[in-house]
Amino acid sequence: MRYKSLIINFIFFISCSSEKDESENSSDQEMLNNTKYDISTILNKFDTRDGFSYSVDNNNITFNTDNLPNHTSPYWPNSNDLYEEYNGSNSNFRINPNKIEEQNISITVPMNPSESINKLATSLGAIGIARNGVVFYNQYAGPNNQPLTNEINSFDQWLGHPTGQSAYHYHIEPLYLTQQYGQDSFLGLLADGFPVYGPLENGENITNNDLDSFHGHSHATEDFPDGIYHYHVTSEDPYINGNGFYGTPGNISN
Ligand SMILES: [Zn+2]
Ligand SMILES: [Zn+2]
Repeated sequence: MRYKSLIINFIFFISCSSEKDESENSSDQEMLNNTKYDISTILNKFDTRDGFSYSVDNNNITFNTDNLPNHTSPYWPNSNDLYEEYNGSNSNFRINPNKIEEQNISITVPMNPSESINKLATSLGAIGIARNGVVFYNQYAGPNNQPLTNEINSFDQWLGHPTGQSAYHYHIEPLYLTQQYGQDSFLGLLADGFPVYGPLENGENITNNDLDSFHGHSHATEDFPDGIYHYHVTSEDPYINGNGFYGTPGNISN
């Protein structure tokens, strides 16, 4: 992604410097969505508790989470009340050797997200925060953009799993949340402050074709009647986010 935007910048630089084409410059400006959105109204949907809270400072929201899921999993230590054997629908399920342990993750997001000119690629590790305090990861299983193909078979009945550092996370639809709140509900925020919604909208399943390359689009939602850019979870790769953050991500400390 960075590579691609470098090339675009380079071409733009050449055309600007050689032709001084002002019209091209202004049409580029027009294509950028300059709206500054306000996500303050969504904060009360976060399921805060001991171990998961947020604070607002200077137009930034900082989420601090122990990252412990509020649902069952075969990845809990057997002694935990939330331990439950795998009972999902994937006949190829094979448990990974890791267990869920408390983390200390902080993610800062802008209160007034807007489109960024240079879209940054997401990194491995946390890219956003779900409403129950568990983090979202991107569509890759590891370095060099390894696809999730094999990793998917280690997702538990709620479609999450822990890393080798015992950090639980969702790469795809967090099934516990869509069952609890609805398939068309608000699920959380990516680190750029833009909301993530479930795979259903107005009774229709959203597919990748309905979304831009970052895996989102703009229109009014129940939570944002004036319209907002938002990501959707889909059932196909890249699942939550596509080619990086639409806005500018805040600080993530895993
Ligand atoms: Zn993973
Ligand atoms: Zn939508």
